[in-house]
Amino acid sequence: MAESTEQNGLRAELRAELEGLEQANQLRSLASPSDSLGVDFVSNDYLGLSAHPTLCDAAASAASAYGSGGRASRLLGGGALAHVFLEKLAANWLSVEAALFFPSGYQANLGLIGALAGRGDAIFSDELNHASIIDGARLSRARTFVYPHLDLEGLERALVHAKNARRRLVITESIFSMDGDLAPLEELDRLCAKHDAWLIVDEAHAAGLLGPEGAGACAALDHEFERLAARLITGGKALGCSGAIVAGSHELCEVLINRARSFVFTTAPPPASATALAAAISLVRSSDTGREATLLHARKLAESLGLPTPAAAIVPFPARNEEHALELQAKLAASGLDVRAIRPPTVPSGTSRLRIVCHATNTEAELEDLARLLRAEKASAPTPEPELASRLFVTGTDTGIGKTVVSALLVRAARRLGPARYWKPVQTGPDSDTDEVSNLAELEQTHLLPPAFQFPEPASPHTAARAAGREIPSGALETSLAGIRRTLAGERLIVELAGGLLVPLRDHFTQLDWLELHAPPLVLVARSGLGTLNHTLLSIEALRKRHLEPRALFLVGEPHEANRSTLAQMSGVAAIFEVPLFENLGASALDEWLDQNPLEQLFS
Ligand code: PMP
Repeated sequence: MAESTEQNGLRAELRAELEGLEQANQLRSLASPSDSLGVDFVSNDYLGLSAHPTLCDAAASAASAYGSGGRASRLLGGGALAHVFLEKLAANWLSVEAALFFPSGYQANLGLIGALAGRGDAIFSDELNHASIIDGARLSRARTFVYPHLDLEGLERALVHAKNARRRLVITESIFSMDGDLAPLEELDRLCAKHDAWLIVDEAHAAGLLGPEGAGACAALDHEFERLAARLITGGKALGCSGAIVAGSHELCEVLINRARSFVFTTAPPPASATALAAAISLVRSSDTGREATLLHARKLAESLGLPTPAAAIVPFPARNEEHALELQAKLAASGLDVRAIRPPTVPSGTSRLRIVCHATNTEAELEDLARLLRAEKASAPTPEPELASRLFVTGTDTGIGKTVVSALLVRAARRLGPARYWKPVQTGPDSDTDEVSNLAELEQTHLLPPAFQFPEPASPHTAARAAGREIPSGALETSLAGIRRTLAGERLIVELAGGLLVPLRDHFTQLDWLELHAPPLVLVARSGLGTLNHTLLSIEALRKRHLEPRALFLVGEPHEANRSTLAQMSGVAAIFEVPLFENLGASALDEWLDQNPLEQLFS
């Protein structure tokens, strides 16, 4: 079949995107399943159950008895008695009234969150929660507050702020999938009780490993949960199968059957999956040996590497950067050990690591090999340098509202702490914000960073680029930014965007889309006077929908006390600064303002 010119165009765009990822050391690919990289320190098959004969036999006989497929949605008669049996067994195992079987953990989170939260509700989500929770929150249309990892005070501030929401849901993993640490479940339950919120716990990495009969981290506690609305258990990890169970009250499961779109509008999982999962639950209930071995392996390994004691089976080993993580992965693979590098965007930028997963099936000799190779690595590793320049993005509600002056203020404030630079990735029109900021911030000419793209027409980047017969290719800004941050390691970089948040960089790709991809720290600049309430609150809502929280709001123009206090009350942004229209705009006016309004906190 011949390829049209348009298809060729798409192919070129996709190639450019892949090249951008490759240059940032973030390109992933699928290894062929036959290319074993060695001993399994990577899969979530913690107990090695996926190959257990009892489970394989159970799946095989269920396939013979019920056929290979689920045939239809459960609501249209799909599934089999095996599903109902599994749900009853799971409810009994987890000591709840009812349980519902979903085709995967991803779908279970999407369905559960979407069924319990909607417009007018508030979701509070730990910043390290799994992508399925993030996506579930996004799809639900509830207002989402992302609180810093395990930060109870941050969570409480958000709960207080959202006290008028119709329903409040706090969602956390019990064992975090990339860091392997444990959420403070009792304290979360207490906070929920105090603020009339409900708790959802994703036990994907705890089920089968923690608690009596492997029933998970909640069950492991000597605590009677007051506000636990639902627990999620995935079948594809310690249980060695697939699918997921949502467990809670009868009413919860009834609502899920009616409202969880990822349950209603999908074919029932194959009966063989349900039967194998039921067999796996029975196995993990019947013996502690596998989980004890797994947890012991993880603890010993962490101890021998001088790392914090893991809460379950995951031991993160920090790498200096993406490249280093990949080097470590290759080095271990060369010694027959399969440990994978985890890099942004799976984990926040600057936290690339090896994610070592211990298994009941690992031998002492394998664990010793791994520890020896990584100890040598630690000993030979040079003291890690700050790997990248830190960045702070300056975004706005509109064009011409004072982002450039705020950028100059930020550069001057950052320079009180150390070296700092300014970068305007895309400049349109005849003016040069780079020149203006460099004058106001008194940057040396040799220190200026030119825009990555400059177009003469004073218009949005996509229009100005088109007028110049060009386009900003996907991945191009990312590549430039990564290069600048590497070169300026240890410095602070202020990045000023063009116009408002939803201004397109190219067709169908806005500045907000770019921010969402990389979630940098950012501030929002808005006008102080008439019209600011709507623009500012809409911009903040749009940022939060993408899980972006401005560190500060700058109101530029004649001070307007009523607007400032309304925004302080309604926006929930941690810090608000008023920037006047300086009569004598220049370095000393900016410094005077900075003496009264220290901005250093924004760089922490
Ligand atoms: N929640 C968490 C915490 C996870 O780690 C995962 C899988 N990595 C899921 C949900 C999704 O589960 P599944 O693989 O069954 O879709």
